[in-house]
Amino acid sequence: MENARNFYINGKWQAPTDGRKAPVIDPSTEQPFETISLGGARDTDAAVWAARRALPEWSARDHGDRIRLLEALLEVYNRRAEDMARAISKEMGAPITLSREAQVVAGRVHLESTIRLARDFEFEHPSPRDGGSTMKLLEPIGVCGLITPWNWPMNQIMLKVAPALAMGCTVVLKPSEVSPLSGLLLAEMIDEAGFPPGVFNLVNGDGAGVGAALTSHPEVDMISFTGSSVAGAAITQAAASTVKRVALELGGKGANIIFADADPDAVERGVRNCFNNTGQTCAAPTRMLVERSRYNEALEIAQRVAETVETGPSDEEGRHIGPVVSERQFDKIQGLIAKGIDEGARVLAGGAGRPEGRNLGYFVRPTIFADVTRDMTVWREEIFGPVLCMTPFDTEAEAIELANDTIYGLTNFIQTTDNEKLRRVARALRSGMVESNGIGPVSGSPFGGVRQSGNGREGGCEGLMEFLETKVVSGWLSGADVG
Ligand code: NAD
Repeated sequence: MENARNFYINGKWQAPTDGRKAPVIDPSTEQPFETISLGGARDTDAAVWAARRALPEWSARDHGDRIRLLEALLEVYNRRAEDMARAISKEMGAPITLSREAQVVAGRVHLESTIRLARDFEFEHPSPRDGGSTMKLLEPIGVCGLITPWNWPMNQIMLKVAPALAMGCTVVLKPSEVSPLSGLLLAEMIDEAGFPPGVFNLVNGDGAGVGAALTSHPEVDMISFTGSSVAGAAITQAAASTVKRVALELGGKGANIIFADADPDAVERGVRNCFNNTGQTCAAPTRMLVERSRYNEALEIAQRVAETVETGPSDEEGRHIGPVVSERQFDKIQGLIAKGIDEGARVLAGGAGRPEGRNLGYFVRPTIFADVTRDMTVWREEIFGPVLCMTPFDTEAEAIELANDTIYGLTNFIQTTDNEKLRRVARALRSGMVESNGIGPVSGSPFGGVRQSGNGREGGCEGLMEFLETKVVSGWLSGADVG
């Protein structure tokens, strides 16, 4: 990639001022295939000031113009979809079929949905209580620092970039240093779409460098962060001294409650959902709770399904799962599988080590633990790999209690054909989202969690509102206006 070592600042590709080189590793082969630069405080400062200088013109610009530029971006994104699919696949290991059909599509859907919702967005709300003399103005919050992870790179980036720009903010994006190529490609697309200089800036770097510099920068008005709960807490602390808004989308440990009256496909669907993207999804159903009368049957199904899940390299088409993203994640997952075994969880499928025949690449065996108890580490910690934990329950109250016994609260899942029970349980679960019977939310629904899964909402009108500040002006109407 031509500009892999450069940053996109003020509408130009620029060499880093205080950058150091870092390899991008292909997780299927463990081989470096590209070199990027990790920036520092001076690069971050240049990008932030470019965004600051561009803000007055961009925030005051005709809203229709901003939408037309996002439409131009959508056209480039669609035209270069295959480049994006290949970049994502190579940098983070998603098989190319998944990359084309889900990773790239997620970015497109968020861009389309932002354009649709932002087109008719009302920025001025006169109060009906005094005939409009009090006016509520929704204004862009300002310069936004956007920090994103590697697992669904374009999904995460587009959920921030598109609404921020649509609402009149200017941005500095810091993609994950593990998966930086998709972000660089998006910067090329934004450049081609013709956005004014400084509206979108990109600086690559790690958390300790560019991430920390962005978070504490006095000219950054907001940090929108997606990543681990540990980093989310560090960012909140670092942002406190400059009192900026911090929107957090963090980890998860979703429970999938399978009642005895669930549809026959519920278990298989749950296993496949857990293993999708090699288990690297914050909203994955990683704890399966099964009503005792169907527990043994569920174990058999889960084992059979896990044994049919194949692993393979990211450049091969097909429905296999790829490697996990990095050596660090591989080691962490192996450590947690070993701990699960040590602590007495029963291995139903998979286990420690690489899948048979795969000696190279960060491949993990699709693993199912049965009879997992709530004190076990694998039940409590986010593993972020293809590992499912299963346990039985006896009553609805116990299922709710088990599901809620976590520091996280992102997505929980319910499988039942009894709609009254479904609604009762959905209300009792402590999470930002509840998915039932395999039916996903309509596109444009807000996504986000509670507790240590974060405090932000992305997508939908809520996702636009995150990038706005409310200003109240009284006496908006003059005597002549009032008549
Ligand atoms: P991570 O927290 O290690 O890194 C995420 C991003 O934050 C990277 O760009 C990294 O460089 C940066 N960063 C790390 N420490 C920082 C610091 N102290 N200051 C500023 N920036 C910092 O997470 P990851 O390993 O890239 O991603 C996996 C995690 O992301 C999982 O926990 C997953 O659940 C979570 N996630 C959450 C959502 C969601 O919407 N809730 C979506 C995807 C991933």
